[in-house]
Amino acid sequence: MINKKVEKAINGQIQAEFYSAYLYLSMSAYFESTNYKGFANWLKVQTQEELTHAMKFYNFLLDREGKVELQAIEQPPADFASPLEAFKAAHGHEKKVSKMIHGLYELARQEKDYPFEQFLHWFIEEQVEEEANALEVVEDLKKINNDSNGMLILDQKLGVRQFVDETTGDKGAN
Ligand code: MG
Repeated sequence: MINKKVEKAINGQIQAEFYSAYLYLSMSAYFESTNYKGFANWLKVQTQEELTHAMKFYNFLLDREGKVELQAIEQPPADFASPLEAFKAAHGHEKKVSKMIHGLYELARQEKDYPFEQFLHWFIEEQVEEEANALEVVEDLKKINNDSNGMLILDQKLGVRQFVDETTGDKGAN
């Protein structure tokens, strides 16, 4: 069983993870429309990752005999001022998600929900990676400073990213 406060918070996080997927898919479309297919690929992979995050919370809630109540997903922005602004927004969003995960961790401790506390360790580590990954692209874009050759090289680099479902294993287990 799971207490109502924790149940509500997990439903909120499912919504936040789906919003992340929506945001990155919207960014992917922006890059696709400006013919940066590598950026678009990277963001599409990120979208898939976010869906697995949502499903990890969803499955956890069901395993704990909680009620899944899917919330409405807010409309993400459809336009971005520049590639740099888009990735700054992605990095800012991940920082916000990290804060949310930390808030859930506080709640798990407050409510003495030890399984939830344990479950969140994976997400706490994941958010460190998520922030670092987005920041790396921000830093690359700053260095490139709109140089078209640099943009093409970065586009190629981001184009090789492939989706791997990381939610099924333990972090650092390999
Ligand atoms: Mg996520």
